[in-house]
This record gives sequence, C-alpha cells and structure tokens, in this order.
Amino acid sequence: MIFETIAASGHEEVVFCQNKDAGLKAIIAVHNSVLGPALGGLRMWPYKSEQEAVNDVLRLSRGMTFKNAVAGLNLGGGKAVIIGDPGKDKSEALFRAFGRFVQSLNGRYITAEDVGIDVNDMEYVFRETEFVTGVHQVHGGSGDPSPFTAYGTLQGLMASLNYKFGNEDVGKYSYAVQGVGHVGMEFVKLLREQGAKVFVTDINKASVQRCVDELGCEAVGLDDIYDVDADVYSPAALGGTVNEQTLPRLKCKIICGPANNQLATDAIGDEVARRGMLYAPDYAVNAGGVMNVSLEIDGYNRERAMRMMRTIYYNVGRIFHIAERDGIATYKAADRMAEERIASIGRIKLPTMGNNGARFLGRMRGQ
Ligand code: NAD
Repeated sequence: MIFETIAASGHEEVVFCQNKDAGLKAIIAVHNSVLGPALGGLRMWPYKSEQEAVNDVLRLSRGMTFKNAVAGLNLGGGKAVIIGDPGKDKSEALFRAFGRFVQSLNGRYITAEDVGIDVNDMEYVFRETEFVTGVHQVHGGSGDPSPFTAYGTLQGLMASLNYKFGNEDVGKYSYAVQGVGHVGMEFVKLLREQGAKVFVTDINKASVQRCVDELGCEAVGLDDIYDVDADVYSPAALGGTVNEQTLPRLKCKIICGPANNQLATDAIGDEVARRGMLYAPDYAVNAGGVMNVSLEIDGYNRERAMRMMRTIYYNVGRIFHIAERDGIATYKAADRMAEERIASIGRIKLPTMGNNGARFLGRMRGQ
C-alpha cells in the first residue's frame, strides 16, 4: 500500500528513518530535484497512522517543488516529518538521529523548520549535518522570517493592484486582514505606513487591540471579516478560508495574503476567477520565508534577502500573465509557471546540486 502511494506520487526518493534508542520515526521525501537540492521544512506531528504521515510528507514535498520553482530558486522540493508529539517527545537524541539521516543523503535534501519545530531543535540537527537552514543567527542563520514574508506579501499585493487597477498605490485601497500574528502584524504595519484603511480580526484580542491603539486599524468580529467592504481580502491566519460559505460574502476585488492553502478546493479557485476577483496564489505571495532561508546556503545577508523579496512582484505578475495567456485561473497558472520552469531548466541539465553541496560545506566549515 505504502509503495503504491509512493509510486503514484512521482517522487524521486522517499527515505524511512528509524532509530529505536532515540525514538525516531521519520520520513524524508524528495519530490523533485531538477532545479537543485530539495529544500523543505521538517514537521513534527502526532500522526494517527504511518499512512497519514506518508500522505502528508508526499503532499507537502510536492508543494515545495512548486513553491521553490515559482520563487525562482535553484532548489527542488522536499519535506520531512517526524511522527511524534512536539509537546512531549522531543529530545536531543531524537533530533541528532534525524540529523544523521539528513547528512546521509549528502545534500540531496536540505531541512528547515516547519510546524512543531523551533530553532532550538534545529540546533541539535545542526550538530549532525550541514544540510540545515533555519538555524540560529549565531550560526549564520536568518532568524525570524515573518518580516520578510510580510514584505514579500506587499510585493505580491502591489503586483495585484497594478494588474487589477493599473496602479500600485497601496494607501489608496482598503484591506480586510484576517489574523495579526507574526506575519499579519508586520503586514498591517506596512499597509498603515502607506496610509491604507485596514480592518483586522484575530482570536487573540490583545493583538487586535494593539492594531487599533498603535496602528490605527479598525477591529471587526471573527466572522464579520468576510462581510467587510474592502478592496482586498488578506488571509493571514488559517488555510481554507476561501470556500463555498465565505466566497459569496466577499466583496473584495483582490484576494492576497500570506496564509498557506487559502482556497478550500480547486473548484473554489475557478469560481473566484469566474466572479472576476483576482486571486494572488498563496505560495507565490508567501515565498519570503523560503527565500530567506535559502540564502543561508550561500551565507546569509539581510540586504540580499530584501532584494530577493522584491522578485515576488515579478513572479506574481508573471502568473497573472500566464493565466491570461492560457485562459485559466491564477492558481492553475502558478502551477503551470512552476512546471514550465522545471521543464526548461531540466532540458539544459545544470549540475546545480554538486555546486550547492560544495558551497554548503564551505559555509559551515568556515565557521
Ligand atoms: P501565527 O501563528 O503567528 O499567526 C496566526 C494568527 O492567526 C494568530 O494571531 C492567531 O491568533 C490567528 N488566528 C487563528 N485562528 C484565527 C481565526 N479563526 N480568525 C482570525 N485569526 C485567527 O502564524 P504566522 O507565522 O503569522 O503565519 C500566518 C500564516 O502565514 C499561516 O498560514 C502560515 O502558514 C503562513 N506563512 C507564514 C510564514 C512566516 O514567515 N511566518 C511564511 C509563509 C507562510
């Protein structure tokens, strides 16, 4: 059953990692490495079954192939999961055992943080392998990606405004921002700096109050965010918030925010397009985080990171162009852009993997 699932998924390599003494049960999936080594985070989750963990790592690693390709990175897509409860099952031995497996892949997979994993866990992984990003700044890491993700989201927004309204005057429009956590709060600051009208909601009342008191936003109820009369709806909390129930309520002309997996289904993505709303594909808009960690490979530099975020503007614009060219919804156009890039680079067969691996070793050994 598991081999059938893997065979159907089109992955290049799936590695099952177990170390009884450390209590490690992990799976590393390399989906596609045409563009370069597979970069993607490590997730720790108490999966109910091994099959559920396999399904998740296959789905997530495939998603990273598309995200990294659209972001213009010379990186393929991969992901890893540890089966366990992040609240109870973490230990030094667990993460070091995982790190040894990453090292054994010799750079074909590069890990990072994802759900359930923090920078302290990465510290242990880092003791065993060079092929890790998202480490602490003292080791040349890039730190909290949220401000970069927010700035990247602003670039995606400007491309959307330009496409829809023919100008990029962020301050001229109104926004309904759902979720003011790490990224949402930074994003709201950027909007308010330009004088935009911003409505916010969050289950965390203190964060909402901060937006009202310190940033001059208007608070709305958790469910009322879908009814706000704003030009842009910006999901910055959960996934799946654009769905059959919410779409008929949305009055916006643009959907653009940093949250992952905003569309509940593909059919909803088609319906968004049919209604004449512009959807800026989430994984193109929120690529700031992965761009930021990718720079750790060559030696992290904040200025380069900010310049790189700016490319999101062009990537999102290109997606809109492909959607128009092919008469398809923008979420499909994003996938097409990724496939086209992988196909064209695949044809010229650059030996990127070896080079990146060597650079990696150089960076880590130099410290
Ligand atoms: P976070 O946990 O810091 O913030 C999420 C916020 O949403 C919290 O304040 C939470 O209280 C709020 N929230 C939860 N449920 C809500 C609801 N029903 N209605 C309104 N608010 C609700 O997370 P984050 O790092 O800011 O990430 C936000 C989104 O952006 C996620 O979807 C994440 O996957 C995505 N993302 C984040 C990054 C990054 O750099 N942090 C990068 C790429 C994508």
